[in-house]
Amino acid sequence: MRFTPEKPPLTGETLESLTLRLKERGEPAFRAQQILDWVYKKRARSWDDMTNLSKALRAWLGETFDLLPASLVLGKQSNDVTDKLLLEMRDRSLIETVIIRAPQEGVGLEHSRKTICISTQVGCAMACAFCASGLEGLKRDLSAGEIVAQLLHVCYREDPQTVRAHRELASFDNIVVMGMGEPLANYDNLIRALTILNADWGLGFGARRITVSTSGLVPKILKLAEEPLGFRLAISLHGATDEVRERIMPVNKAFPLAKLLPAVRTFSERHGRMVTLEYILIEDVNDMIDQAGELRDIARDLHAHVNLIPYNTVQGLPWKRPSVTRQEKFADVLRAARIPVTLRREKGHDIDAACGQLRLKTEKDRQALLA
Ligand code: SAH
Repeated sequence: MRFTPEKPPLTGETLESLTLRLKERGEPAFRAQQILDWVYKKRARSWDDMTNLSKALRAWLGETFDLLPASLVLGKQSNDVTDKLLLEMRDRSLIETVIIRAPQEGVGLEHSRKTICISTQVGCAMACAFCASGLEGLKRDLSAGEIVAQLLHVCYREDPQTVRAHRELASFDNIVVMGMGEPLANYDNLIRALTILNADWGLGFGARRITVSTSGLVPKILKLAEEPLGFRLAISLHGATDEVRERIMPVNKAFPLAKLLPAVRTFSERHGRMVTLEYILIEDVNDMIDQAGELRDIARDLHAHVNLIPYNTVQGLPWKRPSVTRQEKFADVLRAARIPVTLRREKGHDIDAACGQLRLKTEKDRQALLA
């Protein structure tokens, strides 16, 4: 389903598109940059904040564009490491954006590294058997402006006042596209949004600190490899043989490992960067030792980093997280082969999964949440 808003969001405009639009109105070329500075550098929340623009221009902008196409309805601190922002789009769709704090040794939580997990769709069509986001299917794609708006809301919350002098404008360290939705199924809006986030005239956020995670849409992985901006790539593997992967990820039928793995190789060769293989550990589904051996061989072959994520149970789904002993045994197979592997066990171990757990809110959930 498509949603065409009454007014296009300003946060979906590039410097080029905005300059063109303003030129039609007879404005000088520098005007677009001035407006984008207000949005991304000075964090203006209303057109009237933009005091170096004439009243007439501000009025025209207000009639022509939606300054920010998402409103914050709830910001909740789920525990000391994650913060979830519940945002409402103009069609009342709800999405979540997650702030994940990774505490650094010896410093307070306010100095922790911050990773922002963003959504790209309302719901998801991939229907992975273990995932909450796809339970109700895909409602719609998010527009580029709606994707960018998520980061602006994070800026308002985390760093409302600061205007840093140069390129580095955001108060967070990484962006992971691991929220609700399959980012590569909304390719054009994704790339437009990431371009805006990366550009000097936008948020100025380094492409190498942006990770796109996919369930494995092979043609789009190959397309992403050709993008001039070098984003990082994470693959939701979750099964090291077709037999196991297919049981939990329907996408494996169209793109089995024999197609997926060469595409991942092409990507990492093109960018000279390690790709991350994400592997959720689900009891008796994919946590068998022979799967660990297969995963080790795949990771070695691709020079990939492996991120093992103990499964987070989802209400209404039967899957379970294996015991810590089993998790460790699985990880040991990879460690023994010197594969770079991460397995989170400390308190707050749900942080990796926090963004894999975003669920399309039904009207009922919405009422409960907002009550
Ligand atoms: N569609 C993209 C990005 C969104 S999901 C993708 O598949 O990569 C982000 C990550 O969270 C994926 O690796 C997904 O498989 C994982 N995930 C989903 N549900 C989870 C759960 N209940 N526990 C742990 N990880 C989960």
